[in-house]
Amino acid sequence: MIEASPLFGKILIANRGEIALRVLRACKELGIATVAIHSTADEDAMHVRLADESVCVGPPQARDSYLNIPQILAACEITGADAVHPGYGFLSENARFAEILEAHNVAFIGPSAEHIRIMGDKIEAKRTAEKLGIPVVPGSDGGVSNEITARKVAAEIGYPVLIKAAAGGGGRGMKVARTPDEMPEALATARAEARSSFGDDAVYIEKYLGNPRHIEVQVMGDGQGGSVHLGERDCSLQRRHQKVWEEAPSPIIDGEARARIGGIVADAIATLGYSGAGTVEFLYENGEFYFIEMNTRLQVEHPVTEAITGIDLVIEQIRVAAGHKLSITQQDVAFDGHAIECRINAEDPRTFAASPGRISNYHPPGGLGVRVDSAVYQGYRIPPYYDSLIGKLIVHGRSRQECMMRLRRALDEFVIDGIKTTIPLFRDLVIDEDIAAGQYDIHWLEKRLSADAASDDRTG
Ligand code: ADP
Repeated sequence: MIEASPLFGKILIANRGEIALRVLRACKELGIATVAIHSTADEDAMHVRLADESVCVGPPQARDSYLNIPQILAACEITGADAVHPGYGFLSENARFAEILEAHNVAFIGPSAEHIRIMGDKIEAKRTAEKLGIPVVPGSDGGVSNEITARKVAAEIGYPVLIKAAAGGGGRGMKVARTPDEMPEALATARAEARSSFGDDAVYIEKYLGNPRHIEVQVMGDGQGGSVHLGERDCSLQRRHQKVWEEAPSPIIDGEARARIGGIVADAIATLGYSGAGTVEFLYENGEFYFIEMNTRLQVEHPVTEAITGIDLVIEQIRVAAGHKLSITQQDVAFDGHAIECRINAEDPRTFAASPGRISNYHPPGGLGVRVDSAVYQGYRIPPYYDSLIGKLIVHGRSRQECMMRLRRALDEFVIDGIKTTIPLFRDLVIDEDIAAGQYDIHWLEKRLSADAASDDRTG
């Protein structure tokens, strides 16, 4: 175990964009020196400008720069960084990276390599969750490698079923089979997609839930018996299994359900000896929670939890990685009001085609309860090599209604010219009746978007 130390001397941030800035801000508040890494395409990036030092780790392609472990390790050595914060994406869930850093006496700000590995294999994660008393989606006991077993499992749990990649992420390698006839093709496609996306064709089968909500629980552990849950986030508004709009608390979870599922999850991570931030994701249908996966890192949507709890998740991550106990107990966690996050992508709001380029005019909204996490600025050129997320608008209000009013106002104020963004989509969503009523499941947005596309075809 790590000896409790006066936090770290210097933290290298192994990421880019808004999350690199987010981590930088926490380091600055703690008085910790920062090192930015960047690719040759990111020389003008805001995270590079704001960090105390920066190191170029390679050419534009992520595999040669932000995923380049030897270069990142060399950057730690050159700068004397004693810890690395991986952000999300890139190397944040790479157990090997965590091990290599530890072997070089550089702390990885995240859970142990062992916990990353268990949760990174979704079959293993589900097994572990079940052992710890977390409710899971009915499905195959482990992997399914042939059609005969697949059909047998599906017949037992009942169609429709979902075939999922063990190494899955980002919604890839997932296929639905609605009838036994659809099984051979669904199994073959899911395996092929899993192989090409993750280099691993192991798949498993789950009951396909018809109209669930995506509800996830934020947890923090210190690996020393301390654990808390910070309530749930509702991330049901998704496009292609990717979250678009997240809110906390969920409009459909009451205090009793929150305390019940939160308690189960917090106990489970204390039993595991889990250290750091984590998110346990569930589907929720007819009053029941079903575990789908655990992410062993900070999530894109963590600010909505910060907004309603007032707890800085990155500062807590840094503290526990330095061997400290959590600064909070469950009794200290109080939920205040409502928060919504909109993920603003550099994309056409109708076709979702990427829209990189130069931002000619930029004016973010402000005022009470408005937070913008972004690394763009006027004149910034968005490189075409990375994720299209360019910013997050997070709005907090005393009630959901106040939050929605404020969000509408903030979206009106937001100006990003020169590229296309998804802001117009959110302007539509914030005035939608179903959303105002909190009535939407994980399919709602896709249905809405295809209806819009059909009406575009008719009129245009
Ligand atoms: P990934 O790691 O690829 O993001 P997840 O297991 O987290 O995969 O699932 C992503 C999304 O896919 C969920 O938020 C939900 O929309 C859908 N999904 C996953 N499992 C099921 C299921 N058993 N039934 C219905 N939808 C599911």
